[in-house]
Order: sequence, then C-alpha cells, then structure tokens
Amino acid sequence: MSAVIEERWAERLQHSSNWSWQQVSSNTIEDITVLAELLQLDANALTKISAGSEFKLRVPLTFVSRMQAGDLNDPLLLQILPQKKEHQLAPGFSHDPLDEQRYNVSPGLVHKYRGRVLLTAAVSCPINCRYCFRRHFPYDQNRLSQDSLNTALDYIRDDNSIREVILSGGEPLLLNDRKFAQLLDKIESVPHVKQIRIHTRFPVAVPQRLTKALCERLIDSRAQVAVVLHANHPNEIDQQLKHHLAPLNNSSVTLLNQSVLLDGINNQSATLCKLSEKLYEAGVLPYYLHATDPVSGTAHFRVDDNQARDLVHEMTNQLPGYLVPTLVREISGRPAKTRL
Ligand code: SF4
Repeated sequence: MSAVIEERWAERLQHSSNWSWQQVSSNTIEDITVLAELLQLDANALTKISAGSEFKLRVPLTFVSRMQAGDLNDPLLLQILPQKKEHQLAPGFSHDPLDEQRYNVSPGLVHKYRGRVLLTAAVSCPINCRYCFRRHFPYDQNRLSQDSLNTALDYIRDDNSIREVILSGGEPLLLNDRKFAQLLDKIESVPHVKQIRIHTRFPVAVPQRLTKALCERLIDSRAQVAVVLHANHPNEIDQQLKHHLAPLNNSSVTLLNQSVLLDGINNQSATLCKLSEKLYEAGVLPYYLHATDPVSGTAHFRVDDNQARDLVHEMTNQLPGYLVPTLVREISGRPAKTRL
C-alpha cells in the first residue's frame, strides 16, 4: 500500500470517534492489507494465519481504533480476522446446526420459541464476526421487503400468544432512524405485542449509532423495550460507548449484554470479570454467556464445557451475582436455551 493511502486511513482512524454513524459506516475496512498497515502488523506472520473467505473481512474504523497496534493476538482483531483455521473441517460442525431454516416461517421471520418471534430487519452487519452463528444464514431469502414485512406482521397478528418481537441479525440498527421508527410503529400496532427486544452489536462497534433520535424513539415506545448489546471483551467498552448509552440509562429501556465464550479471546475469568464490571459501569447488565454453536468455520473458537463451567464458577467467587451472566447453549428443538 502506498504511503499516501496509509496516511489517509491513519488520519481517518484518528478522527473516526467524532464522526456520525453514517460516516463511520462508509469507512469500513474490507481489505486485509489496509488493516495490516493500519495496525502495523507483521506481514509475514499475518500471511501465515489469514485467509480469504466468502464471509469477508468487514470492520468499522471505530472498532479498529480499540485494537493494539502490532499485536496479532489482539482479542478484538481475532474476532474479525478471517483465518486459515476457518477452512479446516470439524466433525459435528455444519452450516445450520440450530436448524433455523426449519423455523423460518416466512421471509425475515423466525418463530423458534413460544411467545416470541425474531425479525431479521436487515440482511447484513457493519462488522463481520468470525464466530457468528448466522454466517451462513440465507439472508438473500430473508430480505424484509414491504410485502414480506406485511406477511410477517399478519403472522404476528394472527397468533396472540406472541408477546415479544425480537429484532436481530443481520444488524437491525442498519436501518436509519426514520425506517427503524416506522418498523417499531408497525410492531407496536399489534396490541398483544408487549415487548420489543433489539439484539445489536452495532453500538459496540460504532457507538455513534445510538443517536438522540433513536434513543428517544426507544424510550417513547408503548412496548417494554430491551436492548441487548453484544460485547465479548472489556476492550470493546470505551468512553464513547458509555457516552452514547447515557440517554438510555435511567430510562424505561432495559440494557443487557450477551457475550460469546471464545477460545483465545475471553476464556479467562479475569477477562470475563472485567467485562462484567465495565458493562455495569456503562449501565448494562450481563445476561447470557453463550457457548459457541457448532457452525462451520468456527471450531477454533470452541471452549470445552467443563472449562466454561469453571470460568463461571470463578466469576461467581469474585463478583456479585447480578454481574455473573448465565452460561447457555442453544440446542435445536429445545423450547428454550439450555443452561450448562
Ligand atoms: S454483528 Fe451479530 S449477526 Fe452480525 S456478524 Fe456479528 S455476531 Fe453475526
């Protein structure tokens, strides 16, 4: 890469914390050479571990800005770097281990558990997390067009056992504030829907996404709203995120976090304890610690169940109970997540 390009990206990196979320989103790195130059990574060492992938590299500059330059083992870098290990076949791992396509009742709508449904409000993410359990999800068949949204809303209206609508990944907050508010209007028009839950990693990657308008709309909802963030490592939580979460603190919106337990990234009790403490400082309660799902390309992240239990036990000895997340795994066909 030329020095001019390197300088341009370095300058953007320096200023990205002051940008709007749209500006950050339009400066997402998808080229490994750019990432390597920005983080001053050893090119030879990087070539040995990295690989191309259909699930391509995608990371916003604001997330890169929290990585340690020169460190190929940075826990944030390892969450987004496509690696050769992803191409190793692992027994028991498959594209759809949770059998989500069976529960995909109409385009964009997944009905897995009693009383709640999941809408895939957008079909991509601003950050591609290598461990993602939906990395092979057929998003193209799940675009929420006007027609498919109407079909999904009819389905929700016709089943009055559905009390909660979950907006999830692809990343729901990729919709702009106006479109997101319109979607909430439609969901709220169904009288028996009492709760709306938003599962999002966007504010962790790009804190600016929590705009004033978005926060106000969430607070004004006639439903009970929970925002479930997705942070895996304490280094993901910085002053920017705390600042942008502030309007939701002390409001009617419940702030929770779910993490994925990842080998080489957060499988140490000190790291998990620090994550819980930093979340709490930001007004967010730890909710779930997920064992990884057996999705093709993610076997190298798996943590043994006994080690996972030991980690949570160690957390229990060090933290108040409300800062210890529940260790769970999703098992296809079960009526709820399974506690380990
Ligand atoms: S943001 Fe969530 S849905 Fe998107 S790639 Fe990451 S883990 Fe998957």
